[in-house]
Amino acid sequence: MLIELSHIQRLYRSEEVETSALHDIDFSVKTSEFVAIMGPSGCGKSTFLNILGTIDRPTSGSYRFEEKELTTLNEATLAAFRRENLGYIFQNFNLIDDLTIERNIELALTYRNIPKSQRRERIAWAMDHVGIAHRAKHYPSQLSGGQQQRAAIARAIVGKPKLILADEPTGNLDTENGSQVMDILQRLNDEGATIIMVTHSPGHADLAGRRVDILDGRIVLSVSAAL
Ligand code: ADP
Repeated sequence: MLIELSHIQRLYRSEEVETSALHDIDFSVKTSEFVAIMGPSGCGKSTFLNILGTIDRPTSGSYRFEEKELTTLNEATLAAFRRENLGYIFQNFNLIDDLTIERNIELALTYRNIPKSQRRERIAWAMDHVGIAHRAKHYPSQLSGGQQQRAAIARAIVGKPKLILADEPTGNLDTENGSQVMDILQRLNDEGATIIMVTHSPGHADLAGRRVDILDGRIVLSVSAAL
């Protein structure tokens, strides 16, 4: 297994109230799976994705990545873990406005020990892969939403992460650009990438190999697509 969550719980506590965002979640993902996560607003999808991305910590339970327990690691070790293993794609692209597309992509390689020539190669490969190479010197504001999301995918894949986490990657795109983004994610998955994607689109969820539905902080359905 690439990832294994067991008995994951996430409580938010304030002085007056306690909200249980995730209850007793058991979930595992194999290398090269493409999993879509669905569920109504407030059901716990963001909390779930944040825990998978190690941006948030569970209140209790175990999260193992390649057999290694992550919940006991300190923040610095986790940051190094994220850089090496995870790629993130967001609904709002999250590109840095005053950096060119190629510089935005290069940022994902910061603090990694990769020689300069190899960096160039990797960045060129990532841009080619999403069809954005001709926009390398442009700034995000000069690109359409679809192009910005493709650049953000290049940033997510340039470090060759073991897991790609996508939070409603087509949520801000029109149908045509959304389909292009899904085509790219499917192609990456066909090439072996492991992807976990939150989506509100049943059509896009159907393109993944497995669909998981969350309701009130629990996994209520997990179905694999027919081959
Ligand atoms: P979704 O992404 O499916 O909309 P979330 O994971 O954002 O759901 O939220 C799950 C539940 O946890 C909701 O009831 C939400 O109000 C609560 N929640 C999320 N973040 C916090 C927080 N920082 N403090 C308190 N409650 C939170």
